[in-house]
Amino acid sequence: MIAYDFFSPAQIVFGWGRRSELPARVLPLGRRIWLVWGSRTLSGSAVGQAIVASLVEAGMVVKPLASVSREPTIDDVDRIARQLRATVLAASDTVPAFGNAVATYGDVVLAIGGGSAIDLAKAVAALATNRGGDSVRDYLEGVGRGLTIEKLPLPVVAVPTTAGTGSEATKNAVISVDRPACKKSLRSDLMVPKLVLVDPELTISVPPAITAQTGMDAVTQLIESYISRRARPMPQSLARGILGPAMLALPVAVREPAHRGAREMMAHAALVSGMCLANSGLGLAHGVAAALGVHGNVPHGLACAVMLPVALRTSRVVAEGRLVELARAVGIDEPADAAAADAFVDRVEELCREVGIPRRLSELGFRRDQIADLVRDSRGNSMSGNPRDLDDAELTEILEHIW
Ligand code: NAD
Repeated sequence: MIAYDFFSPAQIVFGWGRRSELPARVLPLGRRIWLVWGSRTLSGSAVGQAIVASLVEAGMVVKPLASVSREPTIDDVDRIARQLRATVLAASDTVPAFGNAVATYGDVVLAIGGGSAIDLAKAVAALATNRGGDSVRDYLEGVGRGLTIEKLPLPVVAVPTTAGTGSEATKNAVISVDRPACKKSLRSDLMVPKLVLVDPELTISVPPAITAQTGMDAVTQLIESYISRRARPMPQSLARGILGPAMLALPVAVREPAHRGAREMMAHAALVSGMCLANSGLGLAHGVAAALGVHGNVPHGLACAVMLPVALRTSRVVAEGRLVELARAVGIDEPADAAAADAFVDRVEELCREVGIPRRLSELGFRRDQIADLVRDSRGNSMSGNPRDLDDAELTEILEHIW
């Protein structure tokens, strides 16, 4: 029996240089644009300025809303959502009519940046219309009052400038929480961006280390969603198609930042990985990565990458069949299944080495006595998709092993 739901953005526009189409694509959604930047390098560059100029030239009103280059916090979301709510309310009657029959006069939140900026945009767009809580905390999974996003958020347009998180295609926004220190998601089926425009040319300014880390996030998402206990057939077929090319392209993008083919492949892989995670969930590597972010400030992609090989070795006992499928998908031709599954995990490990990912938690600055905290704080939504249940003693042993 096959039964599934599949969520994805309503419209995806993908291609080198296609940011030039942004004004025409955004106009039907609204004409007052609240802009969230994810990189000062990009917002200050000629490329960034040209994007803004093209929107203004098309008759849109562009309002800078925020600039964020790290995971958004509760305070960030609350402050910017307050600002957005006040202005949207105060000014919604004063936006001049625009002589294009297709255009609405509504507000649009446009994120041009990495996962941090896109998540911030998704969160504030949701809170602009859902006004029942005092803070985003009230809506966060596991820490808040359990409020849910019930009203349609302002439309979000996502223009990713890193190739990693796939947040442009997902229904959650990851928010840093301070008390207790953790990362939690604001999640709703209504939060999937309305329009995604992926222009891989925007990623060529991403430095090699961030290219490696964000790229490994995408690779981890493709693999973990594939073996997740909530895996679905549509995301699985998407993941099988892109994983091999992505694993070949990533080292090229790290070595040659302006390599068009490699940047295109990674941008595509990241987008697909977002669709996969939104529909299938994730697993152990992402579960522990959240704790590594909270307790060691480790960038999300790096944390996922350090965990991926050990997560696969741990799940192999229950997920060998799926690892064999992935092995075949990336061109491993070991005839025996067990050897193919092993070869796949070895290849993942080799990729991590090639793009400069450390192997041990101690190399990320963790002390051994932090392992208990890491175990306690790894039990988020991602971990619930892991194909194998792990109790605290087993997780402790895994983390000790790679410490
Ligand atoms: P990021 O958005 O934090 O950006 C990393 C760095 O790259 C920043 O310093 C940023 O300024 C810089 N940068 C971005 N684009 C650039 C460009 N074109 N040129 C030069 N520099 C550029 O990193 P990320 O990995 O994209 O996003 C990480 C965040 O996404 C984390 O908060 C993570 O929890 C979240 N996330 C969300 C989802 C989701 O589904 N919502 C999924 C995975 C991860």
